[in-house]
Amino acid sequence: MTEYDYLVIGGGSGGVATARRAAEYGAKVLLIESDRLGGTCVNVGCVPKKVMWYAASIADALRDAPGYGFTVAGHEFDWATLKQRRDAYIERLNGIYAGMVQKAGVDLVHGFAHFVDPHTVDVTGHHFRARHIVIATGGRPNVPPIPGAELGISSDGFFGLEQQPRRVAVVGSGYIAVELAGVFNALGSEVTMLVRGDVLLRPFDALVREELMSQMQDNGVELRLHTQAKEITRNADGSLKVALDDGSSIEVDCLLWAIGRHPNTDRLELDAAGVELGEGGVIPTDAFQTTNVPHIHAIGDITGQAELTPVAIAAGRRLAARLFRDQPDSKLEYHTIPSVIFSHPPIGTVGLSEDQARKEHAEVKVYTTRFTAMYNAMTEHRPKTAMKLVCAGPEERIVGCHVIGDGADEMLQGFAVAIRMGATKADFDDTIAIHPTSAEEMVTMR
Ligand SMILES: Cc1cc2nc3c(=O)[nH]c(=O)nc-3n(C[C@H](O)[C@H](O)[C@H](O)COP(=O)(O)OP(=O)(O)OC[C@H]3O[C@@H](n4cnc5c(N)ncnc54)[C@H](O)[C@@H]3O)c2cc1C
Repeated sequence: MTEYDYLVIGGGSGGVATARRAAEYGAKVLLIESDRLGGTCVNVGCVPKKVMWYAASIADALRDAPGYGFTVAGHEFDWATLKQRRDAYIERLNGIYAGMVQKAGVDLVHGFAHFVDPHTVDVTGHHFRARHIVIATGGRPNVPPIPGAELGISSDGFFGLEQQPRRVAVVGSGYIAVELAGVFNALGSEVTMLVRGDVLLRPFDALVREELMSQMQDNGVELRLHTQAKEITRNADGSLKVALDDGSSIEVDCLLWAIGRHPNTDRLELDAAGVELGEGGVIPTDAFQTTNVPHIHAIGDITGQAELTPVAIAAGRRLAARLFRDQPDSKLEYHTIPSVIFSHPPIGTVGLSEDQARKEHAEVKVYTTRFTAMYNAMTEHRPKTAMKLVCAGPEERIVGCHVIGDGADEMLQGFAVAIRMGATKADFDDTIAIHPTSAEEMVTMR
């Protein structure tokens, strides 16, 4: 049996990052991956999603082009060509990941891992032992237990679609639902969103949430709130009939479930290692990513915290530094994590929403602005850009920043640094604007 310093289960964002870093620090590392290297992000998440968002953004630019004097009649879009090119890009990335892992000196085993005892993992009958083990097995999409649910697809299935469906129902209200509905819509599918509650993006600040709902509707997405799918059946022509809880039904060519994800813990046989599970099957850890078993750690989506690629990577790298580089305090601070929603238009957000800030701070002051970006002065389509700064205390420290509008995706990273460093409204006011941009509004709000 081979003995390792560090055994990493799952070759996604977190697993690859922690394995490479630990090897760099001199540890003997084994990485086990049951599917394609790169995990959710590279294969069925951030990366192919962003490619689709870029395609949708080109469609938006073509829509806007006449405003700038272009004649764009006669252009066509072929989903199958885009998919082929996207798949080829992902395949190149899989190869790059394999090369990086090999170059770092990490041993790689392909297969599904499960625990045999607290220090031993089995992969198709082969046993591997290690001093430290990290679980980075991520999650997979939920599908509801209703009749015909299997006729729908999840976000994984979205990336497998060979042809563009003409009519789509997207079920869900979180960021994946919003992003994929936006892509379908911009590329020309008829989209109906089936939303159980009364809002999209519930945890986000009301300003961006409400603006997005209104703009998605302006863009032609039908939002059916307080609506649940009850049963899916296939019609003779191959289309789907979606029966809704109000007794009505809709006909679509594709139904996409985007109703959340659940952690990949069910087949790990964690009992054999004594690792305890939390609510919903996540693996709880302390602030240092360690489970209830001192030499078994967990990082990334499996821990159920801030399910984002850079979070999984940062947690993994810090864990490697703590275990193999003599940095006993190395850990990830899970606050003020910026994120972007690649909706149409995009949303950037960091820190507390106004509602959260009012619960946490006695004194809260909010600055907002809503305007038509200069780009849209020339276009027929006139979406608004909206921004909010949430400030706390007499010194007006900025504890939340929320933007919806073109450019929000690239705008937020720098502001996130400032906010993390404790910037106040006065610091923003003292910063000279960059003109003409939308971002300048962030430092000129009154
Ligand atoms: C549609 C979509 C869009 C997203 N967009 C973004 C985005 O824009 N930005 C962002 O930051 N995040 C985004 N995310 C989230 C991001 O993909 C995840 O947060 C990230 O991939 C988590 O990394 P991880 O290492 O925890 O798990 P994963 O990347 O999921 O990797 C887990 C790996 O473990 C493997 N595995 C599971 N069980 C076993 C086992 N028993 N043995 C061996 N291998 C196993 C899996 O095959 C998988 O490769 C998106 C997710 C989705 C679904």
